[in-house]
Amino acid sequence: MEKIAEKRRIVLVPFPAQGHITPMMQLGQALSFKGFSITVAQGEYNKVSSSQHFPTFQFVTIPESVPVSQKENLGLVEFLMKLNNNSEARFKDCVAELLLENGNDFACIIYDELMYFSEAAAKEFKIPSVILSTASATNHACGCVLSKLNAEKFLVDIEDPEVQDKVVENLDPLRYKNLPISGMGPLDRFLEICREVFNKRTASAVIINTASCLESSSLSWLKQELNIPVFPLGPLHITASANSSLLEEDRSCIEWLNKQVPRSVIYISLGSIAHMETKEVREMAWGLRNSNQPFLWVIRPGSIAGSESLPEEVSKTVSEKGYIVKWAPQKEVLGHPAVGGFWSHCGWNSTLESIVEGVPMICRPFKGEQKLNAIYVESVWRIGFQLQGEVERARVERAVKRLIVDEEVEGMWERALVLKEKLKASIRSGGSSYKALDELAKYFETE
Ligand code: UDP
Repeated sequence: MEKIAEKRRIVLVPFPAQGHITPMMQLGQALSFKGFSITVAQGEYNKVSSSQHFPTFQFVTIPESVPVSQKENLGLVEFLMKLNNNSEARFKDCVAELLLENGNDFACIIYDELMYFSEAAAKEFKIPSVILSTASATNHACGCVLSKLNAEKFLVDIEDPEVQDKVVENLDPLRYKNLPISGMGPLDRFLEICREVFNKRTASAVIINTASCLESSSLSWLKQELNIPVFPLGPLHITASANSSLLEEDRSCIEWLNKQVPRSVIYISLGSIAHMETKEVREMAWGLRNSNQPFLWVIRPGSIAGSESLPEEVSKTVSEKGYIVKWAPQKEVLGHPAVGGFWSHCGWNSTLESIVEGVPMICRPFKGEQKLNAIYVESVWRIGFQLQGEVERARVERAVKRLIVDEEVEGMWERALVLKEKLKASIRSGGSSYKALDELAKYFETE
């Protein structure tokens, strides 16, 4: 009996970005509800504070392997390469110390798929390792497809319109042109990191923050392709709601929402990383104002390229109908009755949070997987539409009216509510995500 209790410690290795940290910490909380002890191993950059939200978790630091000053300049792919190359030995030392401290009985290391350096330590100390994919199952499937493509051949093929329009085998409705490569830097380097992330795995299972009702065909594809157990146990934020926000939430917007008419407000947030040009922000401000709908707009400090703060002209433009915050309590905002639509960059967490609240979306993806999510929102679930082309005030105005006022949106609300119910059912006792979490807990005990 005692032996089992000891074995129930799990080490989590999150990738240091908000959209990755949040689901990893939620997974940790869900597993701690199942009786596991949780250790979080993280670097100095974007560190989750061990404060009041996770009082029972143990936190350890992996010594910094890429100086913070280099992160912005490197770009994602080069940063990942460097981070993984430099962290292997550091993480091994870290695990060695943990083993000394906590005894030899670790159930598992769960690492973000981007933190693949973790596998070396798992192998050395004979601890099972499991991957957490914080994006969609479809994105994971696309990564597998990309990891197998020969870079040169792909370059030739992608210029061929016939190939571009071809459906990726068994991943309908995805076409080759939809594979998430845009905004990822030079293609050859991106394919290289895809091979590292998706081809060289020795992990024994994959956890995905999704639900069967959202992506059944991608999940079936993955289960066949990967040949290891796949656990779709999302959306994690319903199962475990601990707050791991890196920025302070401005709750004054809830009071502002309380004064608005039901389903009248458009909520605008582009997640934790995306940047906008000043010109786009200005056009958006005018478009929002001209739509005459109230709006709640998250503008993170530093998120307007080349501008330290919000241009004065924008503040003036929006002051009548709009409310601007630096960071919102997003899940609560989306669940507020005054919200009538979500203008989103379609990060996976934001997409899930919107679906859970049954809120239709305007999709304005910036890159890679966000574009995949936007395709699903528009064409598979049909709970929103994409804003194509340049951000211009007339286009913005039209899109907002289309989402909040037009009759067409009734159908979107209906479909969004059906999806919301399905998703909520999946995490209730007997639902597919509920069962997947149970199976995962059992899996750790038998590994
Ligand atoms: N978020 C938030 N307040 C904000 C904006 C975003 O709490 O004002 C949260 C949001 O709820 C989501 C996360 O930040 O959980 C963003 O993750 P996502 O995957 O949507 O996008 P990313 O930031 O990775 O691009």
